[in-house]
Amino acid sequence: MTLGEGMTAETLLPREVPLGGIRGITVHRTLPHRSRPTIGAWCFADHFGPTDARMHVLPHPHIGLQTVTWPVAGQIRHRDNLGSDVVLKPGELNLMTSGAGVSHSEISDPSDPTPMSGVQLWVALPESRRHGAADFEHVPDLPTVEGRGWHGTLIVGDFAGLSSRARVYTPLVGVQITLDEPDVVLDLDPSFEHGVLALDGPVSVDGVPIEHRALQYLAPTSRVRLDGAGRTVLLLGGEPFAEKLVMWWNFIGRDHDEIVQARDDWMGQPVGGRYGRVDGHGEDFIPAPELPNVRLRPRVRLKL
Ligand code: MN
Repeated sequence: MTLGEGMTAETLLPREVPLGGIRGITVHRTLPHRSRPTIGAWCFADHFGPTDARMHVLPHPHIGLQTVTWPVAGQIRHRDNLGSDVVLKPGELNLMTSGAGVSHSEISDPSDPTPMSGVQLWVALPESRRHGAADFEHVPDLPTVEGRGWHGTLIVGDFAGLSSRARVYTPLVGVQITLDEPDVVLDLDPSFEHGVLALDGPVSVDGVPIEHRALQYLAPTSRVRLDGAGRTVLLLGGEPFAEKLVMWWNFIGRDHDEIVQARDDWMGQPVGGRYGRVDGHGEDFIPAPELPNVRLRPRVRLKL
């Protein structure tokens, strides 16, 4: 469904993407969407689980983005070339900033029998930050936020009078919200566009029913009405991101040649070069796929 003139909302349906491996995870992806590559600087949204599959993602690189890993159930061990080695638990945030280059691995705790579920999100870095140094934050003490008929956890940005200490580089919000009552109204930053991701079952957003795992896009508005007592949603928002993005594999750049260079740098020296080394995996890494036989082009957002 495309967004016509004068429309202020759009349902982005998930598509299933297998991440590979014998017991690999299938994710449900809502961003980037054909008609809508970004919501604020949020540019990638994968929902996974509940599943008995296990995450086993060997070292791989990123440029031009932040990864936001948010487990709902199950634990994930994160290691990166900065020396980080963290077991991430539900309710905690891993925020990795690639700058010009980082590499990491993400592997489920093999001793944890809990079916996994959660989300992985990417945030596009603005020009002012994307060429900078890599960084990693594990934030176990996120603020608890609440209002009439709901409570939640503030992941990034400001919401309901509180602020997350997780560092982002454009005006952005991410908050997990549980609806304790039917018919909840949330106040929103009217300079932000938003998306509501149905994390654990169908909900209604401004009267529009959306299925489990779908993402309801909202043009800038000062409030939203949610209906689905007992359900949990992820509210994502931000100032519309003006820079055009070329996204391919694990890279976000601004043109084709940057992506080619990022790929060459990984395949030429996956251990020890631009992206450093993730200890604990020997010489194992995920090779980049072949580039398509066409020049990569920016993803274009439809105007409201
Ligand atoms: Mn990654």
